[in-house]
Amino acid sequence: MILIPHLVIGAVIAVKIPYWPLAIVLAFLSHYFLDFFPHIEYSIDNIRQRRWRKIKPDIFKLTLDLIIGLILIFSIQQLTNINPLLILATAFFAILPDILIILLLIFPKNVILQKNFYIHQKVHLLNNNPPSSFAKLRTTEGQRKISNGWRVLTQIAFVILGFAFIL
Ligand SMILES: [Zn+2]
Repeated sequence: MILIPHLVIGAVIAVKIPYWPLAIVLAFLSHYFLDFFPHIEYSIDNIRQRRWRKIKPDIFKLTLDLIIGLILIFSIQQLTNINPLLILATAFFAILPDILIILLLIFPKNVILQKNFYIHQKVHLLNNNPPSSFAKLRTTEGQRKISNGWRVLTQIAFVILGFAFIL
């Protein structure tokens, strides 16, 4: 999934449950819940396959994703006046499972990172053909039975829902 809906839902959790320990745990779990729904994903294959010279477009997509996400969570903070540190923390924990997947590329033998990877892939039930093993993580996969339109729609729906919850 792109990071934007994860960041928004993470921030919304901070607004609704401004109690640090619970908010952080729920934000972390929300990642797997959101990934259960069909969603678009942009390729970061160049990062995955360590083609460092071609890495720029991947970094660009990631940065854009993060910047838009940060603008949205900043707006949520402005609208609600919740502790900005708490919002940043829950937003961070809401994208942590994806960060752990990137880290797995650097530390392939780390057991915790491997566990996260398997759980993360398991929740992609409605996403056809997610990489089923770590070996396949480095290759491009992904048949699309659910159209991209629907996949984009679920992302927008989560962002709108998130804002609807706090207004
Ligand atoms: Zn994910």
